[in-house]
Amino acid sequence: MTDLTSLTLAEARDGLAKKSFKAIELTDAHLAAVEQARSLNAFVLETPEQARAMAQGADAKIATGEGGPLNGIPLGIKDLFATKGVRTTACSKILGNFVPPYESTVTSQLWRDGAVMLGKLNNDEFAMGSSNETSCFGPVVNPWRRANSDAKLVPGGSSGGSVAAVSAGLCLGATATDTGGSIRQPAAFTGIVGLKPTYGRCSRWGIVAFASSLDQAGPVAKTVRDTAILMRSMAGHDPKDTTSVDIVVPDYEKAIGKSVKGMKIGIPKEYRLDGMPPEIEKLWQQGADWLKAAGAELVDISLPHTKYALPAYYIVAPAEASSNLARYDGVRYGLRVPGRAIGDMYENTRAEGFGAEVRRRIMIGTYVLSAGYYDAYYLRAQKVRTLIKKDFEDCFAQGVQAILTPATPSAAFGIGEKGQADPVEMYLNDIFTVTVNMAGLPGIAVPAGSDAQGLPLGLQLIGRPFEEETLFSLGEVIEQAAGRFTPPVKWW
Ligand code: GLN
Repeated sequence: MTDLTSLTLAEARDGLAKKSFKAIELTDAHLAAVEQARSLNAFVLETPEQARAMAQGADAKIATGEGGPLNGIPLGIKDLFATKGVRTTACSKILGNFVPPYESTVTSQLWRDGAVMLGKLNNDEFAMGSSNETSCFGPVVNPWRRANSDAKLVPGGSSGGSVAAVSAGLCLGATATDTGGSIRQPAAFTGIVGLKPTYGRCSRWGIVAFASSLDQAGPVAKTVRDTAILMRSMAGHDPKDTTSVDIVVPDYEKAIGKSVKGMKIGIPKEYRLDGMPPEIEKLWQQGADWLKAAGAELVDISLPHTKYALPAYYIVAPAEASSNLARYDGVRYGLRVPGRAIGDMYENTRAEGFGAEVRRRIMIGTYVLSAGYYDAYYLRAQKVRTLIKKDFEDCFAQGVQAILTPATPSAAFGIGEKGQADPVEMYLNDIFTVTVNMAGLPGIAVPAGSDAQGLPLGLQLIGRPFEEETLFSLGEVIEQAAGRFTPPVKWW
């Protein structure tokens, strides 16, 4: 029998339907892979008993022919999603051993459709980071390595555990979240696919909040088709999240293989950065050529406010974070560090519970929201945000259906290599992804090539609001042309 962990989600689904293997065998194979891959530090909590019970339930459903679309499919869950009765920490010491008495809407929909939970996945603390190095559980190691080197590389962030687990074959797909690039950048760093849906497409209820006007949940998986399958279960209206939108969830898988002939694809000149590595430039051109060969029409476009996106994001996101994180006071949730008076207890708990990057964001956020600075920073950033959104709207009004850009300015870098002396060095990773969050648009990262050292590189497609299907159709064209990317040899 083929190694069940090498299957795609779609192949596993079809194999289960044909009774080629059982759900419990599929889950056991992945649990064994998880156990053998502890050196990657992708999982912060393994839930093997729960996984086996869920897989057995899936087998029972297969026997009676009533399973949902994800019946028996083993998944990993980013530790930002509240899972009922299962420790959820956002990879922060401040949540300690918090065990939620409720389930996030997105994960409850996955279980409704029959998926199996293998455990909780590592991420940057409160999803703040681009390398998974800010997690209180320590960094995740990228399964990919440079040719002839055993240097440990980051998997990207903040969804580093999610992408490492999928690319190493520990699960068939995973949940992730994206506030400024946390689905797309790590997917690109590990040679897998990641979709950040339109703001409002997936419920944020039960997901630990970072910056509420930017946060959006989405899937990461081995292929575009797998991502589309997961998306159908994750999306949907939820009355518990007032920003969730009540529009029909399409069968996204049907978009796979659909012709892209005549589609107008924009190439924004502002994404051509000075000093951009020639291999990224080449990859971008290659992607445009592939889409053209499939019948799409490529047009040059301009998104003039792009250069303000990163500075504006690093005002808006910390501002919202400082407000959201005010709730961690030592009274509710996990950690409490005592003090003489209640104020001391708050201070001690927060000083001890938050890591350095989170503290930095809270300080920036409270500063830009404070009296006297609010207009100069926060209000101005909000105005810039409107202009960024308008740039996209103007292009869409001219008939552009999607926009092609690189996903990241480089391939994966080494653990400890970036952002030590200057945090801005790390923030620059988000240069191609933050605009999408600022405008609330959907974006997909698809593996498209490798750099000189053999590391994967991704391309990004940005779509019109709620037109994720267009991204799946176009993404699959790139995937077909570029081929799949699997980590070299298993060394972990
Ligand atoms: N890297 C960005 C940040 O640190 C985005 C993170 C995210 O999308 N959650 O804010």
